[in-house]
Amino acid sequence: MDQQKTTKIMEINQTPMIGCHVGGGIWKEDYNAILSLTMVGGTLFQVFPCQAQGHFTKAPEKRYLTLLKEFKYILHAPLCFSLGKFPSLQRFKNFIQWINQYWLPEDGSQLKVVVHPLVYGPSVEIINTLVKAYQYINPSERIKICFENESGSAKKRTPTIDDLFRAKEICGSGICIDTEHLYAAGHNPENINYSKADVIHLNSIPNYVKFAGHLDRHSYTRLSDSKIGSNFIKHIFESMNLKTPIILERRDNDILMDDVNFLRDFEL
Ligand SMILES: [Zn+2]
Repeated sequence: MDQQKTTKIMEINQTPMIGCHVGGGIWKEDYNAILSLTMVGGTLFQVFPCQAQGHFTKAPEKRYLTLLKEFKYILHAPLCFSLGKFPSLQRFKNFIQWINQYWLPEDGSQLKVVVHPLVYGPSVEIINTLVKAYQYINPSERIKICFENESGSAKKRTPTIDDLFRAKEICGSGICIDTEHLYAAGHNPENINYSKADVIHLNSIPNYVKFAGHLDRHSYTRLSDSKIGSNFIKHIFESMNLKTPIILERRDNDILMDDVNFLRDFEL
């Protein structure tokens, strides 16, 4: 019998970390994100460290922080920051200082923090605002702020993936590439070089999401039921740095579990 010549992604030496953005919060005792992650087979967390109204002074509850720090994790800012406007920019700075104070991993590794930047306008203005904001925040070496691409808007010009790449070249800011947002914003996700990503939100593109339709909707559809084909997944695995975390942003643990298994069994 012929030996199969395929390799499963998880059999490659440097396997990517597949993480989840799981429900339940890390704060509840009976049903929480840590149990969910373990159940679906993920290997790192994407955590929303506080409510959108968080005032970034209060220390997080120590027992949960201690529990979380036994795992690998990245953070996702709970709200969008208007980078061109001072009160919001200052709030962003306070948020990053709060992260720096309480949330850094104990093993000394760098913590990635995904942020949705609220900024509109022509490319040059957007890039300028991103760079200025990044330099104003001036994060320590321990924190990598990763600006995420948006699904965009029909009315206003939001940062494109190319704007984010350019800002990264200028000031060293990080990038979170969201596959569904790319498609909804009018970029073919198969043409992107994922080696430039610091975080990948490998989200499904439901059949009802139109190219350049600006619909941000990826939480309820399995990868295998979406417009993402195996060529696309192969392209991501082949172009990405395998140390870059992949996050599956789903609402339902069954869907998550299916997607984690789908990726683990994926054959290159
Ligand atoms: Zn995302």
